[in-house]
Amino acid sequence: MTIIINQEKSAWFQRQSLTSLSYICGFCNNQIASVSGYKVGLQADGSGHQVAAIYICPHCGGPTFVDSQKNYLPDVAFGSSVNHVPEDLSKLYDEARKCTSNSAYTAKWSS
Ligand SMILES: [Zn+2]
Repeated sequence: MTIIINQEKSAWFQRQSLTSLSYICGFCNNQIASVSGYKVGLQADGSGHQVAAIYICPHCGGPTFVDSQKNYLPDVAFGSSVNHVPEDLSKLYDEARKCTSNSAYTAKWSS
């Protein structure tokens, strides 16, 4: 389980209360319910009905952007970790899974 933000030592600045939302965190893969983060309001100054938000995971502190169509970024990675494979292969597989959680389906090689 990955901890993105150590919430005992640091915190998001001016976090606000949001409408409760239950989802699987794309950072730690836990089923969570978050009630805090950053609202995007309908009006130009950010006020009004919530149309999107960045929710903060209460477990790992990771931020998830949720738009008005309930698209999550990052989303949950496809598949699950595989045990008993060579370490290098496991790292490649997990990296590919993380790419899918960010809608990055096309690989690019750089050296
Ligand atoms: Zn999390």
